[in-house]
Amino acid sequence: MNSIRNIYCVGRNYALHAKELNNEVPTSPFLFSKPTHAVVKADGQTITLPGDRGGVHYEVELVIHIARDYEAGMKVDDLVDSMAIGLDLTLRDVQGELKKKGYPWLLAKGFPNSAVVTEFVPFPGVEACKAKNFMLLKNGEQVQCGNIENMLFDMQALVEFSAKHFGLGKGDLIFTGTPEGVGPLADGDQLSLVWGEEVLGKCDISIKG
Ligand code: ZN
Repeated sequence: MNSIRNIYCVGRNYALHAKELNNEVPTSPFLFSKPTHAVVKADGQTITLPGDRGGVHYEVELVIHIARDYEAGMKVDDLVDSMAIGLDLTLRDVQGELKKKGYPWLLAKGFPNSAVVTEFVPFPGVEACKAKNFMLLKNGEQVQCGNIENMLFDMQALVEFSAKHFGLGKGDLIFTGTPEGVGPLADGDQLSLVWGEEVLGKCDISIKG
């Protein structure tokens, strides 16, 4: 994996997750972005998160890496060379306040270490991805399980939307949205990010006020 350029994230891309947070199911893709400073590897290390801004929620997501600059008509299987399992970490209380004010989500979604990624593995193609679930285990218990089949907007729609509105090129990452089951992290939590049968990455959580 070479250097990361833009980080796009998709909100409310699984109906059951939109509903669990009392959000309407969107009728077009809903994207936001994170600074590259947010990226941290789930390579067994301890990841420090803020403890002075309310709850920090996990959101497990499939992350795709864009291998070349987008040109009209390109398919996901031609554009994406690798994938990871990621966590779109979210300051949920801060996000609630921002939503009320109609402000952007950057403060809630863009803090350092808020974009956790496992090692990147070769992308098997969109169809092959549907044969595997992605999961988050917290302290050994499965808390989230998703399959890209349940996306409201599929990967092709996401890359086309991103390219049209923001530009999409080599080195960009897309966090493709979280399934239901999001919840808070606590100091000392041990996380495993799983793709099919394989643990792609692990990390321990340290929350400092
Ligand atoms: Zn998310």
